Amino acid sequence: MTAALPFGATIGIVGGGQLGRMSAMAAARLGYRCHILTPEAECPASQVSAGTTIGAYDDFATLRAFAAHVDVVTFEFENVSAAGLDLLAALRPVYPSPSVLRISQDRAAEKGFINGAGLPTVAWMQVDSREELDRAVGLLGLPAVLKTTRLGYDGRGQTTLRRPDDLDAAWERLAPKPLILEAFIDFACEISVIVARGTDGSVVTFDAVENRHHNHILDLTLAPAQTTQEILEAARSIATELAVATNLVGLLAVEMFVDRDGQVKVNEIAPRPHNSGHWTIDACPVSQFEMHIRAVAGLPLPPARRHADAVMKNLIGPDDLALWPEIVATPGLIPHHYGKAEARPGRKMGHVTRLFARGSLPGVFGIEAALGPLGVRLGGSAP
Ligand code: AMP
Repeated sequence: MTAALPFGATIGIVGGGQLGRMSAMAAARLGYRCHILTPEAECPASQVSAGTTIGAYDDFATLRAFAAHVDVVTFEFENVSAAGLDLLAALRPVYPSPSVLRISQDRAAEKGFINGAGLPTVAWMQVDSREELDRAVGLLGLPAVLKTTRLGYDGRGQTTLRRPDDLDAAWERLAPKPLILEAFIDFACEISVIVARGTDGSVVTFDAVENRHHNHILDLTLAPAQTTQEILEAARSIATELAVATNLVGLLAVEMFVDRDGQVKVNEIAPRPHNSGHWTIDACPVSQFEMHIRAVAGLPLPPARRHADAVMKNLIGPDDLALWPEIVATPGLIPHHYGKAEARPGRKMGHVTRLFARGSLPGVFGIEAALGPLGVRLGGSAP
């Protein structure tokens, strides 16, 4: 095990969004400073950090200037250039390593890695031409989901093919970018596990949670996932295996589907704190953000215990943010504001958490009632 980062040292975070903000807040509690690299002059993470270097992620002069301010580097989103992280890794320790980032940045590499580690995904095929798309549809059947291998998130860069007629338009829309075709899974639920691995190889996993999306954006997380013990354990063990297989130091979020037969299949991985782990700030003695900072700083990783059940609801865009005065006035709702100046539609502006005694997560009506002014907006995402 490498020596722990001394108190007062500076952790560099590549990316200035809410994940960096909440990581920096956790780092401050442990006595560390954070320094942010971001192209934006005013960003959520900089508001709570000791310093910021402003510049492009692929500008090597900017990266060198950033490295000069920090003792260790981590990142809070995946669309940073891996070549830029390589440069940083030549100057300072970078956790997780650029090799983990490279896997998660490319859906084909990611699924190939996961299958290579002996873990299940939905059936998928790389598609490099229109003819290959026909062949892949012939093998995987319809419906199927066509996805760009890079830079897809919140439903961007993907489209569902339902009928043979859909293929031309989908190809037109997404090609010539590298693509994969995935079999469509009629999932029972979507779950995720956050796993942390320390510099000493120790691994801890938070409980598996259930995620509900609205307009392709995470809307609601239920902790723990309302499913069988067997599925919860299978998800946990997959996350642990992936942390070991990637030789992770830091945090890895593993998103999974549970099919109608109770089989767990990995959808994607993200080597950073994750929206589906925000509930841990309020429901766990050590949150995903503290665990992230501990792993990166070489501190021991305490058990990822949960002292309460929780529901986390995202605040998306101007409509949800307009409810802020009512949210902060509602007893029991724990508010988290990201400090973003502009509330654009679809933008994550904050989240709220509501805690329940362990084992007493309510059903749909209870959750709606518990979310106060936000409950009436649950709509399609309710359990
Ligand atoms: P992704 O960008 O791969 O995380 O996909 C975003 C969302 O689209 C997922 O959370 C699922 O709700 C849905 N989705 C993605 N892939 C599939 C699939 N193969 N079958 C059914 N739904 C999918």
